[in-house]
Amino acid sequence: MKYRNFPMVPRVVFGDNSFSQLGEILMPKRKNSEAPFIYLIDDVFETKELISKIPLLFDDQIIFISSEEEPKTAQVDAVVAIIKETFAELPSGIIGIGGGTLLDMAKAVAIMLTNTGSSVDYQGWDLVKKPAIYHVGIPTISGTGAEVSRTTVLMGPEKKLGINSDFTPFDQVVLDPNLTIGVSKEQWFYTGMDCYIHCIESLNGTYLNAFSQSYGEKALELCKEVYLSNISAEDSRDKLMMASWHGGMSIAYSQVGVAHAMSYGLAYVLGVKHGIGNCLVFQYLEEFYPEGVKVFKQMQEKHQIKLPKGVCAGLTDEQFETMINVSFGLAPLWENALGENWKEIMTYDKLLSLYKLI
Ligand code: NAD
Ligand code: ZN
Repeated sequence: MKYRNFPMVPRVVFGDNSFSQLGEILMPKRKNSEAPFIYLIDDVFETKELISKIPLLFDDQIIFISSEEEPKTAQVDAVVAIIKETFAELPSGIIGIGGGTLLDMAKAVAIMLTNTGSSVDYQGWDLVKKPAIYHVGIPTISGTGAEVSRTTVLMGPEKKLGINSDFTPFDQVVLDPNLTIGVSKEQWFYTGMDCYIHCIESLNGTYLNAFSQSYGEKALELCKEVYLSNISAEDSRDKLMMASWHGGMSIAYSQVGVAHAMSYGLAYVLGVKHGIGNCLVFQYLEEFYPEGVKVFKQMQEKHQIKLPKGVCAGLTDEQFETMINVSFGLAPLWENALGENWKEIMTYDKLLSLYKLI
């Protein structure tokens, strides 16, 4: 047995208004006045107060990016091209501010500034050759664990797949729970449930080990406090931010499962976003995660979240086939969820019938 040697985020600051320390954190990392920090920021903040607090100096630049769609390889390549055309030398660093979409964009852009070709060439495992430039992640919504993970999930022309590499994790993360104020209730639920589902899939998987279990159990406990008990809004923001972190750590050394494998298929064919996609799938997975689905429905009920229906109605046989092929392509997820003989348990027709429920 060869154990994997995982990189982790080496520096993290946590606390309300810790964002105000960003200038101080970046100061020693600035190479010179010609090498700017580039901020990739969710465009939802374009008119918000946060922008006035960005510690811009010299040629530092803000690029606003929409998170309406999940990040694409072409979009990463385009941002990299703009940065290279605008500045004579490599930036001092990339700072991603937003949800999983912006965090993934920032990680991918930092990698592609030092590696040649297109980001498509690096979708997979350990294909990145050179270290990324310094990159900082600042989440503004909690749940995905993208702030701590070793991957950056990108939609490419042929596949939705992460750039999984030792160079992907952030060099610095700023966890400021106050930045999550302003997220809508629905989005708070969908992205938070991504974390909850990470826990359920990790804790019920065949890859489970004490490392993953210790983080997964803590994250699950925090999710239950946030979504089922009556804690203050401030407490809830703090706890969900830490749940996201622990959930990400849990899957680092195990794997996700059925909901994620199916949600990738939905995303590929219909462009359904990760958080809501996981919820749409998870509600029908009692057979695989009976307790997890029961508690999920309690949380949904408590917060009166109505999921859309008939999302897959009207899909052609060909579209269902693509969805199923994308999903089956994620063998490690299925193996973690159902064991080595997963193909005998999850047949083509069984997966088709599950997709047809959505
Ligand atoms: P997101 O980044 O797509 O953002 C969701 C919505 O919330 C957007 O409309 C955004 O504008 C809004 N938003 C974010 N912060 C806000 C704030 N403070 N106030 C108001 N609105 C705010 O959502 P997400 O669920 O965090 O991320 C999903 C993405 O993360 C997907 O692309 C998925 O593939 C990726 N992901 C990555 C990993 C990883 O390990 N790299 C893990 C899970 C998911
Ligand atoms: Zn997820």
